[in-house]
Amino acid sequence: MTMPTKAQIFEHWMDWLDRSGFDWGEPCCWACKRHFDTKHDLKKASANRLEIIKNWEKAPLQRCHIIARQFGGEDIPENLFLMCKSCHDRAPKTKSREAFLNWVERQDYTTLIQEDILRELRSFELLDRIDDVNEILTDKALMKRFFSNSGVHMNQTKGGSEITLSSIFVQIAEELNRRS
Ligand SMILES: [Zn+2]
Repeated sequence: MTMPTKAQIFEHWMDWLDRSGFDWGEPCCWACKRHFDTKHDLKKASANRLEIIKNWEKAPLQRCHIIARQFGGEDIPENLFLMCKSCHDRAPKTKSREAFLNWVERQDYTTLIQEDILRELRSFELLDRIDDVNEILTDKALMKRFFSNSGVHMNQTKGGSEITLSSIFVQIAEELNRRS
């Protein structure tokens, strides 16, 4: 059996996505709900069903098995789920559809971002200097300089360009060192 396309998988899950509060016109990860800027959003409001379905083919999402292949999970739309690379790497390899969907329900992009920020704070030993960090974060002129000093990274997960958190935090740490 050949692997279904992302468009075929989306078509199978359309009603579930709608009930779960997803917007058909804005492709995102079905686990953490991470969006891809507006690059992959449907541009025209009047798109027909076929255009909506085809639009999901281009989004930087991966096809993930619900019941893992090694447990007999098939390459059929009902056993496949569209997720970002980061969620795909973290997803449970399970025999149980219920367990998989339970995990999906608990994923949340905000938590992932907070964890990323915490990791940077920890690595620069800034956890007990949150107030100082906040002061810098709200200094617009300084932040503007930090951003202009930072190179752009092509994000492997989102498929777009971005400035990495570490580029900013390394400068925050340097600034705080200068001040103390
Ligand atoms: Zn995700």
